[in-house]
Parts: sequence; structure tokens; C-alpha cells
Amino acid sequence: MRDFDILIIGAGTAGMPCAIESVAAGARVLVVEQAAEPGGTLHVSLAQMSGAGTARQRSRGITDSPADHQADIERINRGTGRSDLLARATRLQAETVDWLMDNGFQMDPTCPQILYLHEAYRTPRTYWGIDRGISVLHVLRPLFDAAMARPGAQVRYRTEAVSLTTESGAVTGAVLRDLDTGRDHTVTAGAVVMASGGYGGNPDRFARWTGGRRLYTAAMDTSTGAGIEMAESIGAAVTGHDMFLPTYAGIVEHPDGHRIVWDHMPLLTPQGRQPWELHLTPEGRRFVQEDIDSVDARERALNDLPGLSFWCVFDDRILADAPPLLPGWSADELDDAWAGHASFVIADGLDDLARATGMDLAVLTETIAAYNLGQATGAADPMGRRHRPLPIEGPRYRAILMHGMVLKTPAGLAVDTDLRVLDDSARPIPNLYALGEAMGGSTLSGKAFVGGMSVTPALAFGRWLGQTLGARLQTGHQA
Ligand SMILES: Cc1cc2nc3c(=O)[nH]c(=O)nc-3n(C[C@H](O)[C@H](O)[C@H](O)COP(=O)(O)OP(=O)(O)OC[C@H]3O[C@@H](n4cnc5c(N)ncnc54)[C@H](O)[C@@H]3O)c2cc1C
Repeated sequence: MRDFDILIIGAGTAGMPCAIESVAAGARVLVVEQAAEPGGTLHVSLAQMSGAGTARQRSRGITDSPADHQADIERINRGTGRSDLLARATRLQAETVDWLMDNGFQMDPTCPQILYLHEAYRTPRTYWGIDRGISVLHVLRPLFDAAMARPGAQVRYRTEAVSLTTESGAVTGAVLRDLDTGRDHTVTAGAVVMASGGYGGNPDRFARWTGGRRLYTAAMDTSTGAGIEMAESIGAAVTGHDMFLPTYAGIVEHPDGHRIVWDHMPLLTPQGRQPWELHLTPEGRRFVQEDIDSVDARERALNDLPGLSFWCVFDDRILADAPPLLPGWSADELDDAWAGHASFVIADGLDDLARATGMDLAVLTETIAAYNLGQATGAADPMGRRHRPLPIEGPRYRAILMHGMVLKTPAGLAVDTDLRVLDDSARPIPNLYALGEAMGGSTLSGKAFVGGMSVTPALAFGRWLGQTLGARLQTGHQA
């Protein structure tokens, strides 16, 4: 007899609801989590969710439907996501938001809203908790703990799945490592669910699965991509390598590091603050209409820069007159950054600015002169920019180095409509399933950042797969 009906690898956004529902359906479930506690990326995520046809929308008089949600997603991503999975996800997402509410979710009272951090939906259908991802975790944690206390269910923290076991091509379980003792042992299960998240914490795997790009990230270190690689090594197909789009944009914690200061992001969304600065390539050219309404257009322009980095350039007068570019930074933090952070440059004159940033002086001089001329005369800006309140003329210049960054990773395990992991010939690998970012952040979102289309489908598909597999495989206690 197998040890468990279902083995879930990862107690994060997708793994927890999968466990809650599969135990409720009567299955004997083992959850393994490498960290010392559950929650995964919910610990840092904004957890903005989307769902169409929710009770909250109805109570605010908003008419919406899963079909409209899907159409809006496919407008934003230009049809680059999987429409079969989008149909299922959008059908399940409203019910998932309602389920959270029924279980005490503390939603921000201003929701639902149209948000401009990502390309905006046409209908208010974005929701978030008063304490970001932690509000979601506050709902999941008690349900998860109660599920794991049921007979036949078990969670093991500080336990890493290190490989999958197979027999005649079918997955039979996994080798697990106790991270405190270093000991390995094998468990068998009727199904293995890869809910191990993405690879945004691992620069090498990011380069390997994302076209050799350099990683700048706000993802957690636990997003290692090990689960994807584990499945790949038994023949699973990985898709979405060419679907990366960076989030616009962040500042590194340390020079040469890949971690972005996530708590204090620059305010680069024109709907929140119109830009007073210029955004310049490492050579000193403009590459984007800094005040364009479309987030997607800015992200695509940044994606075309091979190094994903640009200088945000202004001067002392703009620093004094403009609303803060870095509203989250305290005066002391800013003083320290201007005094010693390698991404912050103060320069006396353009030649000094070029020297300190590595920009080409001739290019930089021409770029600034052209911008200032248009600003002074009102002539059309070559990039189409409208907001030009002040010239950038020194004498003291300022520049901050910013980077296109990762919140979720695009590539992941290929799955069919029922979330069965596929091999290179598109055949399901028996008994292996994937959820959340492990099935690739671009599978639903396509080559775009679509609001709420990571956390909500991770929760919704997690619940759905738990119910489906739990009902099919249950050999244990009854709910
Ligand atoms: C800063 C930030 C903000 C974001 N904001 C939003 C947002 O507003 N809206 C949105 O939709 N999305 C957002 N996202 C993305 C979204 O939060 C994630 O895509 C989603 O939470 C991932 O869920 P998951 O279950 O796939 O992975 P996770 O929640 O990361 O869970 C995976 C778990 O698996 C564990 N694990 C991994 N490998 C193993 C192994 N081998 N053995 C055992 N355990 C393992 C990990 O430790 C982790 O706990 C954001 C992401 C970041 C980083």
C-alpha cells in the first residue's frame, strides 16, 4: 500500500489550498515544505487578486463575468496565454475570492478597484487584503493547520523533496531530505503535486530558463526552481522560456547584487506620479515615453534593453520641486544612499555625470539638449511625452540606476487542462501534477503582467486540484 494518497511539494500559495481541499475530500495527504513555516511567497506578495462575478462586485453594483475577465486578459496579453486554462481559472477565481471572504479575509474596503501597477483591466475586479499576502495567509493558515491535524494527513517542515521516483514512466513518490539531520528517505503516493513555486530566487536557473537574462528580483530565496528541475529530469517539458517581461523597475540593495529593495519601490507609475525625470539607457539615450499610460508599453521597452537597466536622470531643482520619486525612503535612508550607494550618483556637470554613470558624454549631452529644447519651446517630444514640467539643466545632476525586475518567473512545467504535467511529446506523465508558478507564470498571463493572475489562480487551481484528486484518490478518513 502506498504511504499517502497525495504528496504535495511546497506549502505555499497553491500548496496550502490544495492540501486543505484534498484532506476535506478524504485523502491521506503529506505536505513537505523546505522552510520552517508555510506560506511561501505570500510572505512578501502584494497578493492583489482578480475575480469576476464576486459577491463584493455585486454588492457594489458592478456587472462582470468570467468571460469578460478572460477577454480582458486576452486583450492585455494579446492572446499569448493558454485560453483553455484561462477559461477554467476565470470561472474558479470569483468563487475563490468569495471563499476567502467567507473564511474571514480582511479585504481592503476600497476593493474592487482598477489598478495601474500592471496593465489596467477595464472593469474593477482587483482585490487585496489590508496586510497584503499576510491577509491571505491569515485565512489559509488555520484551515491548513486543522487539515494537517486530521488522521492520515501530515505536514513536514524543513523537509525538501530532492527527486521524484518513477516506475515504468509513472511517478510513484519522491525522495525527501530532512534538512536538520540531512537524512533522505522515500515516500510513495498515488499522485505528486508540484506546488514548489518559481525560480525568481535563483540567478543560474533564471538565466537558463529565461534566455540568459540577468536576474534582478523581489522573489523569495525559497523560489529556487528546484521542483521544476526535478520534474524536468524525469522527462517533463518546460515551456515559457521566451515569455519574460520585467516589472518596471527597482533599485538593487547592494551593488553587483540581484536583490531589489522591495519595501521602497520608486514611484514610476504615471497614474500615481507623473515623471519629472528622463529614463536613459546605459549609453545615455531615451528608450521609452516615460509618462505613457500603458505599463505594458514601458515593460516592453525595458525588455528590449539587453541589460534590463536604465538611469533615471534629473537635477537638484527637480529633486526639490517634484513629488518624491522614492516616497518610501526616509530622509536618513536617502542621505545614506546619496552618500554611499553605488546606484545613486551626484554629478557636477554632464561630463562628471557621464564619467560616474558610464554613459557616453556626446550621446548624453545630445539627449538632454533635445529634451530641454522641446521642454522650453513646447515642440513635440520625440518619444511622445507630455509631462515636461522642468528642464534638466544642472548645474548639479542626479541619477539613480534602476532595473527591470522579477516578481514571478515565466517558464515552468507544461500542463494539460487538468494540470497533469506533460512530457516533451505532450503526453501526461502519470501521477504528476503542477500548480502555481511551477506551471510557469506565463501559462495564464502570457507575455504580459496581468493583475492578480498569479496569486488567484494559484489559490483557485490549488483548491480545484485538491478537490478533484482528493475525491479520486481518497483511501483514508471521510470528511
Ligand atoms: C514581491 C512580490 C509581489 C507579488 N505581488 C503579486 C500580486 O499582487 N498579485 C499576484 O497575482 N501575484 C503577485 N506575485 C506573484 C505571486 O505572489 C506568486 O506567483 C505566487 O504567490 C506563487 O505561488 P506558488 O504557490 O506557486 O509558490 P510559493 O507561494 O512560493 O510556494 C512554493 C513553496 O514551495 C516550497 N518549496 C520549493 N521547493 C521545494 C522543495 N524542493 N521541497 C519542499 N518545498 C519546496 C517553497 O519553500 C515555498 O514555500 C508577487 C510576487 C512577489 C515576489
